[in-house]
Amino acid sequence: MTYTEQIKARYAAALMGNYGLPPVAIREGEGRTVTDVDGNTYLDMIGGIAVSSLGHNHPALVEAVSGQAARLAHTSNLFLHEKEIELAEKLLELWGNPGKAFLCNSGTEANEAALKLAILHGTATGKTRIVATENGFHGRTLGALSITGKAAIREPFAPYGRDVVFVPYGDIDALKAAVDESVAAVFLEPTQGETGVVPAPAGYLKAARELTAEHHALLILDEIQSGFGRTGAWFAHHAEGIVPDVVTLAKGLGGGVPIGAVLATDETAALFTKGVHGSTFGGNPIACAASLAVIDTIERDHLFENVLALGRRLGDRLLADPRITEVRGQALWRGINLAAPVAGEVVEHLIGLGVLANAPRPDTVRIAPPLTITESELDAFCDKLVEALDTALPHPPAPLRDVSPHTGGASPRKPHAPGGRP
Ligand SMILES: *Cc1c(COP(=O)(O)O)cnc(C)c1O
Repeated sequence: MTYTEQIKARYAAALMGNYGLPPVAIREGEGRTVTDVDGNTYLDMIGGIAVSSLGHNHPALVEAVSGQAARLAHTSNLFLHEKEIELAEKLLELWGNPGKAFLCNSGTEANEAALKLAILHGTATGKTRIVATENGFHGRTLGALSITGKAAIREPFAPYGRDVVFVPYGDIDALKAAVDESVAAVFLEPTQGETGVVPAPAGYLKAARELTAEHHALLILDEIQSGFGRTGAWFAHHAEGIVPDVVTLAKGLGGGVPIGAVLATDETAALFTKGVHGSTFGGNPIACAASLAVIDTIERDHLFENVLALGRRLGDRLLADPRITEVRGQALWRGINLAAPVAGEVVEHLIGLGVLANAPRPDTVRIAPPLTITESELDAFCDKLVEALDTALPHPPAPLRDVSPHTGGASPRKPHAPGGRP
């Protein structure tokens, strides 16, 4: 019995089965490489689901976290500390709009806070309806789940007692039909991550901004996966030149340390008066120090330039293979669409070849590697993917067809413009 097998047996005996049994038992990481308990190494192309933005064991993150833990680990919100102020100021500066921040510990918590803002806005204006999107994902707690469009994970916990309408993602006419004066807020992801990295067509966010403004509803953008560098920018919505009322962040924000954040314009932020919301750990000094180190490193090392250049290279390389029908998304956040529903098998073969990725749906391999990845590591991934496809899909089925539900009208064999909207 290998050590991995022993560890897996202990995992299955001690932890609940909601994640199934994960395939690899990771012991440690360094840069873009992780090592399992048996000493096998893997190129990390998923980064803990778009979280490990600086890779593993990055000196800036190690120093920020250990230094902060040695000085002050926790205050609660009964008392303030300077790191939370520094982080809030920095996030608002990067966002580029006057407003205020609320700090929490995860993505779903950020969306819970945003939902509370939506409810308070609705109470103040006599509106009760929330509009969200089919196949959208906003988190697993009951508030965030109530606006999550994936029926398979939402319905087992229904009813929610909230008036939520789901519209097809990326469809401006459907949004027009759904948004009227009864709507308190519209929740959107700039690109649907958990659905297989599916971007909205150009102009969608702008149309959503215009519609919500016209009907006095909040536009709430969930940038938990799309934000903080995935698209080669701090915020994906910056590319559309719009200002949402609320943005939620998490995942890459802490580079591996749990943290979430909500940014809101001054008018919306004012809805959070004393006592209406809170979190014991929110704005924790260690998490804030980690996040500041992530921001500082991205800026100092010009990581977005790396992400954009490698993103272009990746698109070109992958589309040369006829078994890859579409490379959705931007920069180093991609849904690699296969000509057959063998993504699960491909991901298994990749693990065997020493690469970690995931399959958010049967026809799509998702990658979201550390922003620090190098060109030679990216090339190695492309070679391994071709090798995995040689096993899982030796002959491309003919004729090629587009099997993705939303391509934003883009032709299925064309890469999306890196850094811009498709
Ligand atoms: C991951 C994710 C969430 C939930 O974040 P957690 O930290 O897992 O609670 C919400 N929205 C989007 C778009 C996500 O990708």
